[in-house]
Amino acid sequence: MGNRGRDPFGHETRPPIDPIDAVKRLADLGAYGVNFHDDDLVPPGSSAAERDQIVIAFHRALADTGLRVPMATTNLFSQPVFKDGAFTANDPKVRRFALRKTLDAIDLGAELGASVFVMWGGREGVECDAAVDVPAALDCYAEAINASCAYITEQGYEMEIAIEPKPNEPRGNLFLPTVGHALAFIHELEYPEMVGLNPEFAHETMSGLSFHHGVAQALWADKLFHIDLNGQVPGKYDQDFRFGSEGHKDAFYLVKLLEEAEWNGMRHFDAHAYRTEDEDGVWEFARGCMRTYLILKEKAARFAVDDEIQAALAVAKVDQLGLPTLPEPPETRWKTLREETFDVDALATYGYGHERLDQLVTELLLGIR
Ligand code: MG
Repeated sequence: MGNRGRDPFGHETRPPIDPIDAVKRLADLGAYGVNFHDDDLVPPGSSAAERDQIVIAFHRALADTGLRVPMATTNLFSQPVFKDGAFTANDPKVRRFALRKTLDAIDLGAELGASVFVMWGGREGVECDAAVDVPAALDCYAEAINASCAYITEQGYEMEIAIEPKPNEPRGNLFLPTVGHALAFIHELEYPEMVGLNPEFAHETMSGLSFHHGVAQALWADKLFHIDLNGQVPGKYDQDFRFGSEGHKDAFYLVKLLEEAEWNGMRHFDAHAYRTEDEDGVWEFARGCMRTYLILKEKAARFAVDDEIQAALAVAKVDQLGLPTLPEPPETRWKTLREETFDVDALATYGYGHERLDQLVTELLLGIR
């Protein structure tokens, strides 16, 4: 809601919405919570007294409406000081400034009850590859996250960190570009149990990857700490459209995945209204994100009880993926496997019925089932 329609080629097209008003309006729309960057609530350069005044007023709005702040994050990309990176800037003084800003945002998040701290390294990357030693930059990235975990632990906060991968934009190349890169990186950290992922629909889709596959792997690794839902067309700039406005099928399978996994995290929308919109359009956008999620949730429930879809799933042998591959018992499994006869021609002959299955899902999503 705070996005004012600015893009790389044009200025803001709508006036700011006061954060307190945004909280009230979101509550009216039925939202559970609200998120923001530290700078969105407390402008950089505010005095300690100004900061406290802003936070007290915001606290009051939360109490009045019952809205929660499930996640906190910090903006380490807008200020010119971060032009060469924040946690991975070559200048250690910039890295320390970024870390201090992060600790302040962790404090603010804890004060507002956030249990997840998202780290999106918007400037952690490079255009001129000669200017950066990538392994050394990853060491610095890890050091900053390790330090943040140590700080959270020492302060006694109940908070976890969620890394948000992105392939590029605003940098030519960003570090930790995909869910897979970030998952591997987490295992090199000092507190791997405290660090998970915040995958974003647009970011994985920009890489040409399936968002729901990325989320499924994060869930499989027990690392889905948070999620950023929006809409995106592959191969385009970071669009951050209303959830479900693009990529309907991936959005559907994503919602189905989260609901069937009974994932208990926030259904969080990191998106913004089209630049064409006035404030009414912004609220239409907010309503649309939530409404589409709920529609897809209902579609996922129908998928589970649709007889023809269930029959098609049986033809596709979906349930058989849950059967063990290796023969039992373990002591004789190699022998048993060697002795098993395989009619590979027969195995290669039958169809899996995917055309029918996919058409049934398409019809479900088009609203005629
Ligand atoms: Mg995001």
